[in-house]
Amino acid sequence: MSIPSFLAYEEFARRADALRAQIATACAAASRPASEVELLAVTKTHPAAAADYAARYGLLGVGENRVQEGMEKRPQVAPASATLRWELIGHLQSNKSKLAAQHFDRIQSVDSEKLLNHLDRAAAELGKTLPILLQINAGNDPAKFGADLAEAPRLLEVALTKKNLRLDGLMTIAPLGATPEETAAHAQRTFINLRALRDDLASRFGVSLRELSMGMTSDLVPAIAAGSTMVRVGTALYGAR
Ligand SMILES: *Cc1c(COP(=O)(O)O)cnc(C)c1O
Repeated sequence: MSIPSFLAYEEFARRADALRAQIATACAAASRPASEVELLAVTKTHPAAAADYAARYGLLGVGENRVQEGMEKRPQVAPASATLRWELIGHLQSNKSKLAAQHFDRIQSVDSEKLLNHLDRAAAELGKTLPILLQINAGNDPAKFGADLAEAPRLLEVALTKKNLRLDGLMTIAPLGATPEETAAHAQRTFINLRALRDDLASRFGVSLRELSMGMTSDLVPAIAAGSTMVRVGTALYGAR
């Protein structure tokens, strides 16, 4: 009988080095400084050690998909990992807003007015300003969460009225295609759409919307080409889930 073991830190560090090199190359090709793109380690389904590895390597934040999983894992990390930023990147139901506001440093998956209302109220009760991103279905994927491109201006307008929320930018997930070629085409189109939307909203509303959270293990290069400031990577760091 074998005891399941988590990957060794040295292997994690090698993978992170390779990713940073890939990010640097993609940035150079896009004439962007590599410091503009943060690597967010996606620790979902992995033990708290995954977050400890990210902190030990010098990464600033981790992404979790579920409120419950994140709030259980966070208290298990080593004291040295205490400065890690925890970001919620998965779909959030409004009845979990209070817990999300309490246990996460930023919510990337805000996609409705109802959620804005709930999170603003929760942040007010906690006496904190909660950073958020608006999740946009920039690839028009029927299977994905996220506000429609056409709804985005209205949602942004509402977000800007919320005293206890701080709107940092936008997030998206590219749809899958039936073939690798189709998936790649979807990714490119989705990321270009989100970048164009950000530029349009920023100028119309006079806000910076600095953060563009887009790109995962398989599509971080086109995301960086389109202007991503944060790639969310799980598989390439920790292996298949
Ligand atoms: C799981 C997940 C990721 C990471 O995906 P990988 O392909 O493992 O890099 C990124 N973003 C979101 C929203 C996720 O749910």
